[in-house]
Amino acid sequence: MSSLPCADRMGRAITYLRVSVTDRCNLRCVYCMPAEGLPLQEHADILRYEEIARLVSIAAELGIRRVRLTGGEPLARRGLTDLVRMLAGIPGVQDLSMTTNGSLLARYAAPLAEAGLTRVNISLDTLRPDRFRQITRCGELAETLAGIEAARRAGLEPVKVNMVVMRGLNDDEVVEMARRSLEQGWNVRFIEVMPLGEGAHWSGDGYVPIDEVRQAIEQALGSLEPAELAGNGPARYYRWAHAPDAGTIGFISPISDHFCAYCNRLRLTADGKLLPCLFGKQELDLRAALRQGADDAALRDLFREAIAAKPRGHDAPDHVAPGERLMSRTGG
Ligand code: SAM
Ligand code: SF4
Repeated sequence: MSSLPCADRMGRAITYLRVSVTDRCNLRCVYCMPAEGLPLQEHADILRYEEIARLVSIAAELGIRRVRLTGGEPLARRGLTDLVRMLAGIPGVQDLSMTTNGSLLARYAAPLAEAGLTRVNISLDTLRPDRFRQITRCGELAETLAGIEAARRAGLEPVKVNMVVMRGLNDDEVVEMARRSLEQGWNVRFIEVMPLGEGAHWSGDGYVPIDEVRQAIEQALGSLEPAELAGNGPARYYRWAHAPDAGTIGFISPISDHFCAYCNRLRLTADGKLLPCLFGKQELDLRAALRQGADDAALRDLFREAIAAKPRGHDAPDHVAPGERLMSRTGG
């Protein structure tokens, strides 16, 4: 058995697995979920921590090196620190990170770091408390800001802050957000809104191309030059030409510039479906295989099948119907 990364039909080395640990969330972001929330999956249908750990160790045997926990809100699932400890101990997993809305992070950052979490990405779309409540429908800005500080204190670095940009809702704050990288060392990433789930409502008039965001930032704050940052995935990173030691700026443009050519990832949903592509319809049912007693070789074959099924590129993300692929289920 080889522990070298598996490559797909296009020669892309598949080294990154995103694991959604729950479809539940304590917020209701306007681009992700309806105000009333979504029908929740039964607890029995969600993978147990032992099941996730078994799948991750099989993925690691096939060359997965980086694992990211996501959701729903991963910290909304009880005992997440236990899962982190289990995954951090799996040979081959070199980088174990998490994407979170940060609202519960002030409480958990230190124990998560102690359990082996390497770093976090924190979603934050605005710096204004009233607007934060409007976008998340039930969140408190102060809690997420406290989460960012706690993550930095716990050494979960580099902390990355993700802002989904929407016209008429928060696009007037991109410069203010970028300034945090200059003044407070944040690594801020700007993301184009995707037409998935509730994001479909924002993909028309609300969509802001990332080039426009970059232009506004450079005009106001100075020019950017390419940089490297740990965890390089679909984001393009930049540092300030006049302040190279400040935080970085990242741009993620799933719509205006598909990053399929260097897509290195698979996604595991909370109910155990393995997705070759966020925008594709194909999924492999790992939970059914696990619970029917599949041995490791059979599970490895399912991972290989998913890798082989990765498409060359996603065709038309603007055609994904609302509700067809929910971000809270796929983990973004
Ligand atoms: N609850 C966690 C959080 O918000 O960070 C993790 C799950 S969330 C689904 C993962 C990421 O997807 C977040 O950064 C969120 O902003 C992003 N996201 C959700 N819906 C989106 C959409 N329609 N377009 C672009 N990004 C989206
Ligand atoms: Fe929850 Fe994250 Fe979706 Fe917001 S983006 S509703 S925090 S899962």
